[in-house]
Amino acid sequence: MSIKITDECINCGACELECPNHAIYEGGKKWRISDGTSKKITKCKNPIKKDIYFIVSEKCTECVGFYEEPQCVIICPVNCCIVDDNHLESKEDLLKKKKFLHDGIPIKF
Ligand code: SF4
Ligand code: SF4
Repeated sequence: MSIKITDECINCGACELECPNHAIYEGGKKWRISDGTSKKITKCKNPIKKDIYFIVSEKCTECVGFYEEPQCVIICPVNCCIVDDNHLESKEDLLKKKKFLHDGIPIKF
């Protein structure tokens, strides 16, 4: 599954620095698959949220492949990084996503 940020976000920015996949963006910012990954997909996509930080589910691996626990969940001072029930994925799929983002292994979203 991926993690999402709720409206309780206070825009502190702490989570963005911790994400190994560069899946977290400041509200209003455009995002790209290539940001912080080995992919060459540089097409800019529109922000998912305008006023608060957001997580790109295509890039979030729940930190699988890097850490035992989701780093944004641990660091967030107001506990607003939670499981996104709309993007449920198995650990195996999350590991495939990690390999796609960083090791060049192709998968379909
Ligand atoms: S769970 Fe990990 S990969 Fe997903 S957004 Fe949080 S820090 Fe990034
Ligand atoms: S750490 Fe929490 S409060 Fe701070 S920007 Fe991230 S989601 Fe928002």
